[in-house]
Amino acid sequence: MNLTDITTIKALLETANTGFKKSLGQNFLINPAVPKKIAASLTKDGEKPLNVLEIGPGIGTLTVELSSVSDRVAAVEIDDSLLPILEKTLADCPNVKVINADILKTDIGRLAEEQFFGEEFSVCANLPYYITSPILMYLLEGDIKPREIIIMVQKEVAQRLCASPGSPEYGALTAAAAWFGDCERLFAVSAGNFLPKPKVDSEVIRITPFKSPPYRVSSEQTLRRVIRGAFARRRKTLVNSVSSEFPNMEKERFVKILSVMGLSPDIRGERLSVEQFAEMTLYIDGEIPL
Ligand code: SAM
Repeated sequence: MNLTDITTIKALLETANTGFKKSLGQNFLINPAVPKKIAASLTKDGEKPLNVLEIGPGIGTLTVELSSVSDRVAAVEIDDSLLPILEKTLADCPNVKVINADILKTDIGRLAEEQFFGEEFSVCANLPYYITSPILMYLLEGDIKPREIIIMVQKEVAQRLCASPGSPEYGALTAAAAWFGDCERLFAVSAGNFLPKPKVDSEVIRITPFKSPPYRVSSEQTLRRVIRGAFARRRKTLVNSVSSEFPNMEKERFVKILSVMGLSPDIRGERLSVEQFAEMTLYIDGEIPL
């Protein structure tokens, strides 16, 4: 069955008495080259991934390709009306397990333990646009450290994830990703490759987690608060925006921290690199005396 063929997709949905759910970000791939290319990106230096966690299999277009390049696939799909379709389309893929759940309410660590027996796994997805940021934040700030994350996101999100400090795209998502791992933009996928056609173009990116934290911090929790504060109020100076996250700390202390770090008291958060946010945590928590 050709799962990228428009007539086939429509017929599958019709027989299951369902349709494209915009509210769940259901834009299915209609170019067979794209899921093949995504799956091929998982093979690094000729080495195949053992296990793959797919988010949102839809009708199974990418899942079939993932099944052929790995030992095991666990595919988490929220929409139960797609389950009878997946049963049909994945009938020849015995190494795929479909799990009917909301990924945002799933304990991914536990799921990986159950499905992959504690072995390493990769995350792969053509992410639904409407929850790209919460899923990304969950993956980047959670305790799991996959082998790699290969995902299709809106082009603008790819730009944000890989942005440099000071650029208009640089934000909390960029800083979270830069703390978590290396971000690479792999290839572009224009809107015409999906049904229904979305209003935006997409890109496939790879995030490879660092084996250990890239910089010293007092605690990851403080780092998250600093980053959240720095970008929650972008128009304010870093001192004003970060101090609202730390109401018990005097503003003067933040000014002093910036001065010790050789930064202007008027600097905005968007100018700082993750390395500098990490350094700030050491002064905030008194690990380095001022
Ligand atoms: N993988 C398919 C493809 O590439 O053609 C479908 C991708 S489609 C952009 C996103 C998929 O994610 C849909 O099947 C949608 O139902 C599913 N989805 C949306 N929200 C979800 C959630 N919270 N948890 C799990 N799956 C979700």
